[in-house]
Amino acid sequence: AAKSEDGLDFRCFDRNMRHAAEEQRELVEQLGRALARRQFEVHFQPLISLHERIVAGLEALVRWRHPVRGLLSPARFIHLAESAGFLPSIGAMVLEEACARLSEWRGLGLDPGRVAVNLSASQLRDRNLPRFVLDTTMKHGLTPDRIELEVPETVTLGRAGENAIGILSDLRSLGFSIALDDFGTGYASLTHLRRLPVDKIKIDLSFIAGMSGNAADLAIVRAMVNLGHDLGMTVLAEGIETEEQADLLVKLGCDEVQGFLFGRPMPAEGLLAWLRQRQVTEC
Ligand code: C2E
Ligand code: MG
Ligand code: MG
Ligand code: MG
Repeated sequence: AAKSEDGLDFRCFDRNMRHAAEEQRELVEQLGRALARRQFEVHFQPLISLHERIVAGLEALVRWRHPVRGLLSPARFIHLAESAGFLPSIGAMVLEEACARLSEWRGLGLDPGRVAVNLSASQLRDRNLPRFVLDTTMKHGLTPDRIELEVPETVTLGRAGENAIGILSDLRSLGFSIALDDFGTGYASLTHLRRLPVDKIKIDLSFIAGMSGNAADLAIVRAMVNLGHDLGMTVLAEGIETEEQADLLVKLGCDEVQGFLFGRPMPAEGLLAWLRQRQVTEC
């Protein structure tokens, strides 16, 4: 009876909504304990230098090994963790783990370059963040040029954005590099971009997905690559899944790529095996 003319079942919709709300409440409750119980894992995805096709770095990506629900992707819990105030501590753990693994792999003679760590809006409100990032880096015997900090474009907008920009400038003065994540989705103006203390832009995967069949998306990607270069930035494209996309990006002069075509995010042991395998095949 609750079906609309195009067949949508509103009762079912309502039930799903309630179900989703319950799930969210439950996850928020469990988030606090999850950290102490070591349920978060850091996976690593290779960043590839497109011209030489060598590993230029890794991106650290968090996952939640939930005792009942299995491995949860960040899409399921990051926004909940951010609004419940857990991201500063989760973020600290991710940075710690990223530095520890990078240092370990370097010690094994498998140097993957630098490691990129995502920062959230709440972390960029903390004036002590630069000190903390520097201390963590040095504790693991690394130098700041080994660490890249990724921030979404939106974090730099508005009044809170001014503070975030100040903190990013401090990090950059310490020698860390800054990448603007999900570039193209944040509605930042070009004048705004020019003011940002940023070394790299990461073109959002939604543009890459449309690039092969859609002339507008291709034009946008081309414009973003040129803009980044004209502003003196490195340009990385996210979400490369096909050789066709990789070839197009070579033609556009893109510097780095990241995507399932080259390597998925992997747990630390998987990444180590992947690095070893590459070393063998490259020799
Ligand atoms: P992001 O920083 O833009 O990370 C890239 C996302 O694209 C990752 O999703 C990665 O798995 C996915 N990806 C990479 N290559 C491909 C591809 O070829 N095809 C497709 N379809 N996807 C690809 P993931 O790991 O699910 O992370 C989602 C988002 O969660 C991240 O987007 C980032 O915004 C956030 N996130 C992840 N880890 C952290 C963290 O430690 N701290 C914070 N604050 N945010 C995080
Ligand atoms: Mg990122
Ligand atoms: Mg990204
Ligand atoms: Mg993204």
